[in-house]
Amino acid sequence: MSENKRIGFVGLGNMGYHMASNLAKAGHPLAIYDIRKEVVDSFPGEDVLRLSSPKEVADQTEIVLVSLPTPQVVKSVVLDENGLIYGSAIRVYIDLSTSGRTVSKEVGKALAESGIKTLDSPVSGGVPGAEKATLSIMVAGEKEIFDQCKHILDSIGNKDKVLHVGEEIGQAQALKVINNLLSSSALAITSEAMVLGVKAGLDPNVMIDVLNVSSGRNSATEDKFKKSIINRKFDYGFQTALAYKDIKLCLDLAADLEVPMFLGNNMEHFWKFAMTQGAGDKDYTTIIKYFEEWAGVEVKEQ
Ligand code: NAD
Repeated sequence: MSENKRIGFVGLGNMGYHMASNLAKAGHPLAIYDIRKEVVDSFPGEDVLRLSSPKEVADQTEIVLVSLPTPQVVKSVVLDENGLIYGSAIRVYIDLSTSGRTVSKEVGKALAESGIKTLDSPVSGGVPGAEKATLSIMVAGEKEIFDQCKHILDSIGNKDKVLHVGEEIGQAQALKVINNLLSSSALAITSEAMVLGVKAGLDPNVMIDVLNVSSGRNSATEDKFKKSIINRKFDYGFQTALAYKDIKLCLDLAADLEVPMFLGNNMEHFWKFAMTQGAGDKDYTTIIKYFEEWAGVEVKEQ
């Protein structure tokens, strides 16, 4: 698998668009597909093959990466009529989506039966990480295939954070949904706490500065509050519906393994409540607005 062979990419959304752009910048010619034809048509580069189905991508390329919204979409892009599995050239499938352990294993098994290797490779670091190619990428699958594809993953992530986590497909998905339960919980509990602080008369910027040099710091204090919440931009780039999907996938994993999740279940309930309020298509940093409404304050520049 030479470094300059054309690479396939399916799913040019908030994350995928930047990841595909970084692959192109690193010198990999691309073959791309997304159901949104306008995004495919406007993707820059003279050398890009703009195709009309996952199968067409898999007919043209040995290695295909996907970044898709839900496990159901991942399954359909791989296994449905005109799916990747029917491509004549594909040898390695790399799933960068958060698609959960169950679907990852199911899809991996079907592909293996067709002689196609899978790397279960979810990413972390959000849209800023995708844009700057500083993502962390947790990868499960055969170590030999990981080693062969690492140079590709290194062009979309930080090479020191592209990590092999196990041989079994689905192990990286398990780790990723655990990570996202933690990061969405951090965002929710930090929102609750920041609202309390503002109600107590504190300046939110001062709070964040102090928390970030104290033991309460977390991914929400270090990243999301100043970037997207205190300035009221709510533009972090991750939809509430996707955050909820990931928490649910984590709780499904716990149910499969019969592990009690007292706190995780509360988180799932809280994010489900947000979904019932129509928050699904909003940025997940807007979660703070419920706490603000209940307390009658806003966490904003003072
Ligand atoms: P998104 O909804 O912005 O992008 C998904 C893309 O897939 C869209 O361009 C959409 O048109 C395309 N798509 C949908 N159905 C399709 C189909 N049948 N065939 C081809 N293309 C199809 O989502 P995103 O935020 O880019 O996230 C992608 C994945 O990465 C998700 O699994 C998400 O959980 C995960 N993720 C997201 C973030 C983030 O901060 N946004 C961070 C880490 C991981």
